[in-house]
Amino acid sequence: MSTDSQSQPASGAPAAPHHFIHQIVAEHVQSGRYGGRVGTRFPPEPNGYLHIGHAKSICLNFGLARDFGGTCNLRMDDTNPTREDVEYVESIRQDVDWLIGGWADDILALKRVGDTTGAGHLGKGSSVPLEPFYASDYFGQIYDFALQLIRKGHAYVCDLTPEETERYRGSPDRPGMESPFRNRTVEENLDLFQRMRAGEFPDGTRTLRARIDMTSPNIWLRDPVLYRIRHVAHHHTGTQWCIYPMYDFAHCLSDYIEGITHSVCTLEFEVHRPLYDWILEHLDLPKELPRQYEFARLSLGYTVMSKRKLLQLVQEKIVTGWDDPRMPTISGLRRRGYTPHALRHFCEMIGVTKYNGVTDASVLEFAIRDDLNRRSARVMGVLRPLKVVIENLPEGHEEWLEAVNNPEDPSAGTRKVPFSRVIYVEQEDFMEFPAKKFFRLSPGSEVRLRYAYILKCVGVVKDASGRVSELRCTVDPDSKSGGATAGRKVKATIHWVSAAHAIEAEVRLYDRLFSVEQPDSQEGKDFKSFLNPHSLEVLSQCKLEPSLREAKPSDRFQFERLGYFCADSRESTPGKPVFNRTVTLRDSWAKEQQKS
Ligand code: ATP
Ligand code: MG
Repeated sequence: MSTDSQSQPASGAPAAPHHFIHQIVAEHVQSGRYGGRVGTRFPPEPNGYLHIGHAKSICLNFGLARDFGGTCNLRMDDTNPTREDVEYVESIRQDVDWLIGGWADDILALKRVGDTTGAGHLGKGSSVPLEPFYASDYFGQIYDFALQLIRKGHAYVCDLTPEETERYRGSPDRPGMESPFRNRTVEENLDLFQRMRAGEFPDGTRTLRARIDMTSPNIWLRDPVLYRIRHVAHHHTGTQWCIYPMYDFAHCLSDYIEGITHSVCTLEFEVHRPLYDWILEHLDLPKELPRQYEFARLSLGYTVMSKRKLLQLVQEKIVTGWDDPRMPTISGLRRRGYTPHALRHFCEMIGVTKYNGVTDASVLEFAIRDDLNRRSARVMGVLRPLKVVIENLPEGHEEWLEAVNNPEDPSAGTRKVPFSRVIYVEQEDFMEFPAKKFFRLSPGSEVRLRYAYILKCVGVVKDASGRVSELRCTVDPDSKSGGATAGRKVKATIHWVSAAHAIEAEVRLYDRLFSVEQPDSQEGKDFKSFLNPHSLEVLSQCKLEPSLREAKPSDRFQFERLGYFCADSRESTPGKPVFNRTVTLRDSWAKEQQKS
């Protein structure tokens, strides 16, 4: 997959070739439609945390605003009070800000607290929190639009029960039946709708419906419900309302009210588009109307992406929370060690198309490896320690060896790593009876210790159960950097940590949450029956080089030869450091699959 053609232009540079929606917008800008203005929005419903699929939509919508000098509104699509919560509103703000807050110098128009112009430009690195728009702020205007539709004879109050409404609607191959309430007079409709709003009727007894066509082949045009009665408090509007607009009614009008030009959503809304247009076209609206465009949603292998399913994982305590590092949520990926840059790069790589498909999880892993390779400091840590005593060094021997912090970034400099008579190496770097092509430690063999000497295994010590518990070794004293035999070649280099200087840490290794690629499309089976029982492995006695004592929560490192790790943002403390493995150094799954 080529990444170069779509990489972000440097500030001021012309935009690279882009996806089909980008082209549509470019044509509109060129022809002067909407006065050359571009306004997009990202409209999450605050009924769960954002996931990597939302990241795609965020990058797309904010990316259009960035590329065309337009605006992008973060809008809470909060018309369904029973499922929504301020906890979700807060998490969405944080996640969007984290993902694109530091985006490019020409940061797009974000509405931020204290910014009285609504959507205004802000300089790079602004730390003012992102302030969302709320569809619920428009409930008054949306209600007035409903009254207008009624007056024009385009909407009526219907007394069918929800079940009857469903039955009357018919099915794609069977026309619907008209409601017996369809021909109420405008006066009666106005009166009933106003009384619905005043709270005179219980939940579910009446709805407001658009008067369109019960025989339309498009089921969404069969007199869709515009308003329903719900006597519940709303997280943003409190108890002001007891009727709430449906998504299809609120969405196009919110777009219109905010001056959105291009309303971009996922493909399943394609069939709603005629309704989107119908509503706007049947009202007296002076401004140019927004239009809807659809793209394929992201599905990622070995995970699920619906908020309802993610909520189940949280509620049933299958994961520790929305930000469990195994979750495909933005907060989970952040805690796992993903960078905003890597997620944005991932979204560029996958592109924007009209074809639904499953994106291989390895694409996401590629994006984070690529980024962390460039930016993370190298350190040494031993996850499953095996003690090594170096017999030809005196008791109390200690020296500090120079180690390179990041070979990809000379400006990252060097550090000193302590070396002494007793060190730890990785258990898997030793085999008492080496298999063919095993070139690391075994009795009589030599390896190079990274940044240090050539080490030779001269004996083993076993515990009562016969397990090798300790290695006896010697070093070639002239083999370290600058020494007479420094250039001597051995077949392997391994990492190590000085026992006397090591800090102990817990390391959490994560694997895919599900053991099949599409857990939620397995015929007749619950997605939870495909959980990967090995998605988390906790190693509690890891030994890390002492420079990691300074690690702060969320700091990221490459543990040499092992992968990328970050200090856990919730549970890591100086006394008890906890590291999460973000990703391994190589794609071990691809290798597994080749083998099988
Ligand atoms: P879910 O099914 O997980 O609840 P949703 O579509 O109901 O998702 P919303 O909060 O309504 O979630 O989504 C906000 C925006 O993000 C919408 O414009 C939606 O189209 C987009 N979006 C949601 N999921 C994805 C996805 N997997 N890929 C791309 N865009 C997505
Ligand atoms: Mg939705």
